[in-house]
Amino acid sequence: SAGAAPARVPAALEIVGVRKDFESFSALRDVHLRVNAGEMLCFLGPSGCGKTTLLRIIAGLETQTSGQIIQNGKDVSRLPPNQRDYGIVFQSYALFPNLTIAENVGYGLVNSRARRADIKGRVDELLRLVGLPSSGAKYPSQLSGGQQQRVALARALATRPGLLLLDEPLSALDALERIRLRGEIRRLQKQVGITTIMVTHDQEEALSMADRIVVMNHGVIEQVGSPMDIYERPATPFVADFVGKVNVLQSVAMGDQRFRVGDMELQCDACSAAFEPGDAVNLYLRPEDRAVEHLDENTANRLKALVTRVEFLGGLCIAEVTADALRGQTLGLHFSLNQLHDLDIREGNTIDIALRANRIRAFPARAP
Ligand code: ATP
Repeated sequence: SAGAAPARVPAALEIVGVRKDFESFSALRDVHLRVNAGEMLCFLGPSGCGKTTLLRIIAGLETQTSGQIIQNGKDVSRLPPNQRDYGIVFQSYALFPNLTIAENVGYGLVNSRARRADIKGRVDELLRLVGLPSSGAKYPSQLSGGQQQRVALARALATRPGLLLLDEPLSALDALERIRLRGEIRRLQKQVGITTIMVTHDQEEALSMADRIVVMNHGVIEQVGSPMDIYERPATPFVADFVGKVNVLQSVAMGDQRFRVGDMELQCDACSAAFEPGDAVNLYLRPEDRAVEHLDENTANRLKALVTRVEFLGGLCIAEVTADALRGQTLGLHFSLNQLHDLDIREGNTIDIALRANRIRAFPARAP
C-alpha cells in the first residue's frame, strides 16, 4: 500500500563526517554513522584502526579535526566531557581505591544535589542491578577484576546517562570472567535500554554482544551490520578475513557465476558482483560451508578431497584437505567429531565433499 513513510526515529547519536589527523597521520577519515536509541553497537577492528580514537571523540576526550557529533539532535562537538551526557567504562577498572564500593558507585550523584537517602537508594538499586547487592561496604581491592568492572558499570549508569561508552571493558579479565560478564553486560544493557557503544578487537565478543557491528580498518568504516550480516554477507575482503575464519581460493571468472580454480569449475550462486570472463577473483569459503551428505550428480562443486591433516579440538575439529584438481590450494574445513568418526576422516583418506555454492563469496583479486 502507498502509506506515508514511517516517521524517522531521531538518532540517539550521529557521527557526521568525522576526521582525525595526528599531524600527517589520519586516524579517522570521513566517518559517518547513525546510532539508534537503545541499541548496542560494537566498534570492531584490528589494533590501530581508529576505534578507540572514535570513542574518545564521542566522549569529548579527544577533539576531531573536522566533523560533528550530534546527540539526540543536539550538536555536542565542542562540549567538554563533563557537559556531555554519557557514562563510560574503561579497560582498567579505574575505581577510586580509597572509596568504598558504594561511594564509588554514588560518586557522580554526590554533586548532583540529590538527597542522601535518595543517593543510598539509587546506589543499592545499582548494586543489585550488577549482581553485587551486599558489597557496598567493601573496597575495590577486595573484589575480583570482574566484580570491579561491574562496579565501574554501576558507576557509569548512576546518573542515568543517555549513552553508555565501553572501551574494551573485558580485555583485562581472564577468559572465564570475560565470557560471564559478556552475557551480563548484554542482559543489563537490554534491561536498562541504554544506547551503548563498545570498543573491542575481539570478534567473538562483538558477534555475541552487539545488535550491530561497525567493522573498522585504517580509519574507515568497512561495514555496518548485524552480527549475522557481517559474518554471512561480508561487504569486503577485509571483513570476510577479519571476522571469522575463511578459506581463500584464487580463481579466474568464467562468466555466469562460474569460476575456474585449478582444474575445476566452481559455481557461486551468491555472487552479487559481476565479473568479466578472465577476471582474477578470490573466492571466500567459511570452514563450515561444505556438505558431506545427500550428494548426488546434481550437487554443485563436488570434490574428491584428500585429507592432509586433522586438528583435533574436541567436539568441532578442523580437517585440512586438498585435491589434484585444486592444484595445490588447500582448504581448512570444520567437521564435528561424530562426522570425523562416521566418515572416517583422517590423514591420508579421501572424502567426498561439496563446497556450498550458495555460501561462496567472490571478490576481485587485488593486484599483488
Ligand atoms: P588499539 O586497539 O591498539 O587501541 P585502535 O583501533 O583503538 O587500536 P586508536 O587507538 O584509535 O586505534 O589509534 C588509531 C591510530 O592513531 C593509531 O595508529 C595510533 O597510533 C594513532 N594515535 C592515537 N592517538 C594518537 C596520538 N595522541 N598521537 C599520535 N597518534 C595517535
